[in-house]
Amino acid sequence: MQAARVLIDGPSDLVFDYGIPEGVPAIAGCRVNIPLRNRPATGTILSIGPPPEGDFALREILSLIDPEPLITPTLMKVAHWMSNYYATPLEQIIRSFLPTSVRQDKNSEKTRKIVALTQSINDDELDKLAKRAPRQHLIVTVLKNAGGTLPLKDLGEGASTSVKGLVKRGWAEVKNEAVRRNPDAGTEFIESTPLQLTPEQADCLSAVTAAIDSTEDTPPKPLLLHGVTGSGKTEVYLQAVQHCIDQGKTAIVLVPEIALTPQTIQRFKSRFASLQDQVAVLHSHLSQGERFDEWHRIRKGKARIVIGARSGIFAPLPDLGLIIVDEEHENTYKQDSAPRYHGRDLAVLRAHLESCAVLLGSATPSLESFQNTLSKKYDLITLSQRADGQSLPIIRIVDMRLEKGRQKGAVSVLSEKLRAAMEKKLEKDEQIILFLNRRGFARSLQCPGCGKPVECLHCAVPLTYHRTEERLMCHICGHQAIVPKACPSCHDPAIHLQGYGTEKVESVLRKVFPEARVARIDADAMRKKNALKDTLTRFKAHKIDIIIGTQMIAKGLHFPNVTLVGVLNADLSLHIPDFRAGERTFQLLTQVAGRAGRGEMEGEVIIQTFTPHSPSVQFARHHDFLGYAEQDLQFRNQFGYPPFSHVAMLGTRSTHERRAQFTLETLHRRLKENAPPSVTLGEPLPSPLVRSHGQFRYQLMLRSPRAKALTELIQRVLKATPTPDDVHIIIDIDAYDMS
Ligand code: ADP
Ligand code: ZN
Repeated sequence: MQAARVLIDGPSDLVFDYGIPEGVPAIAGCRVNIPLRNRPATGTILSIGPPPEGDFALREILSLIDPEPLITPTLMKVAHWMSNYYATPLEQIIRSFLPTSVRQDKNSEKTRKIVALTQSINDDELDKLAKRAPRQHLIVTVLKNAGGTLPLKDLGEGASTSVKGLVKRGWAEVKNEAVRRNPDAGTEFIESTPLQLTPEQADCLSAVTAAIDSTEDTPPKPLLLHGVTGSGKTEVYLQAVQHCIDQGKTAIVLVPEIALTPQTIQRFKSRFASLQDQVAVLHSHLSQGERFDEWHRIRKGKARIVIGARSGIFAPLPDLGLIIVDEEHENTYKQDSAPRYHGRDLAVLRAHLESCAVLLGSATPSLESFQNTLSKKYDLITLSQRADGQSLPIIRIVDMRLEKGRQKGAVSVLSEKLRAAMEKKLEKDEQIILFLNRRGFARSLQCPGCGKPVECLHCAVPLTYHRTEERLMCHICGHQAIVPKACPSCHDPAIHLQGYGTEKVESVLRKVFPEARVARIDADAMRKKNALKDTLTRFKAHKIDIIIGTQMIAKGLHFPNVTLVGVLNADLSLHIPDFRAGERTFQLLTQVAGRAGRGEMEGEVIIQTFTPHSPSVQFARHHDFLGYAEQDLQFRNQFGYPPFSHVAMLGTRSTHERRAQFTLETLHRRLKENAPPSVTLGEPLPSPLVRSHGQFRYQLMLRSPRAKALTELIQRVLKATPTPDDVHIIIDIDAYDMS
């Protein structure tokens, strides 16, 4: 007898082996009923193999819940790949494949009773019935008028006795019918018609449809769509999905965050309004029942278009023809808790296994994806113009080094140029977005004279100031330096720690523009449910003049009355100890600038910076992605960073600082002893964000041309090195978060 390893549903994550009775077609991914102690329970089969050794009697599976596995065989392959690649146990992977609500029996299908007439009843009989049983007569009449069937509850209170009578006569029957818990119930979507494509869009579309229709033996190459902001990428997505559906196939559309991309989702729902029931949107606000129903509709092939955030890649669609990853450069595709997978990378993997088309799109592609087009693993397609014929907004740079005299040493929040521009817009009753990325918790030293941060000689990232030791430290290699008395480049003694936050800006705005209506959007201000949606709605209705926000406002927003976008301190995202800081800054500036001038009026963007000549600022100013990519790839290549290597972060977290530190130092020694030459090992150091949620955090970075070398090394060392129970170990392969 074969045995099945079963992940039991419930909070305690138990895994047990069960025998598979003769004739039960159980395969991995199937949902099963099993006995657990003395009661029945449910679970998911992780794998099938020979029964475990030992002389105990193996208990047997009671039955299959669904005739087909809820996790398709291809998805099971994806799960195994993830388990190996991300060094994460299979059961943890499976748990993220099947949301709890889908695994819980109490959410199972909701049904309702339907009453149906079983035969045509002639007038004669009806007359008789009217006299003998007037209530039954009434019900038959109502049913007849409704075409023969109606839900029981629509027949009014107390109808069931009369219905029973009709059933006894053999005139009616009662059936159970599944009801879909539809998250969009009550919302009407007006169907939008496909737009006439521009020649550039048409070229892109035909590249995608060719991939969908490909009958080659090898899977089609992934496509990277680089399209400037407002170039009509979404229209290409819509028509590509339409083509896919027309071929009888299904499609997945991934978006960075459902809550922050309401406009994109609206466009999909409108375009496919006539297929309403075939579109499933998976987001975190679905009720448990809704999620259960959506998932099963997907598995049964009833929903053929799935829109979701990163976990949407696990949607069990049959006959997959196309996967789209919108804004593929976004870091939200990387999950920041285990399993730490990257949704975009899994999209490419799944498309390969399903032999279907995959389209990655962005105005600012990730260097990883772009490098893949240079090495011919992916094909590049391009939209270089805005679809509405408007030009991209004009971007002006304000050199904040020149502002310092004017402000007499005070931190200058608003330059004179930005203040004057804001005043003009407010007079004309136009709206303004101000952007300040506060992710600068790791404080670097910056010179207000020449604008340069103090950097590590070996790693080319800014050194981080550690107050307790009064030292500067490199967060990659561990290099330490004393705090210089003056700027190492220009010898200005005014060198200082940079940084101020959105709250400070809000108070400055209230002083400078007392008449203006100001709102702040950041994680602190938006803690209340619906706060973000409400604020955006008020902004759209022009009940707010100025929004000051963090990267929460950088994504996909479309407000035609916004004519000025101000970036208060471009350097804040630039001077953090992360080799992707430059890339992120370029992406942020380009995306934020893309929010301006999306209506009839021309847009203007003002960027304040202490480093006006940094490539991130200069290339963003000229809307030059290719130029940016070329110079940053050169830097990455020179220092051995991705995409020319894979990066893994090994971290320890504990409420006891010494133990977090000591454990990582021990692991570091073992890694050093075991590391093959291809692996570059960093030093064990406090994380830039050394204390978070009451835990002390230590980390070290590993690099290698092969990801597998990293996973294998880490797993081998961890297996051989006992670690204390109160130290939590984090393994992050292809890490994006260096904090
Ligand atoms: P992106 O997704 O690249 O940022 P969008 O799809 O939002 O761009 O398109 C920007 C604007 O251009 C939208 O208002 C869209 O309706 C419009 N648009 C897109 N394609 C066309 C087209 N072929 N003809 C006319 N307008 C278009
Ligand atoms: Zn260094």
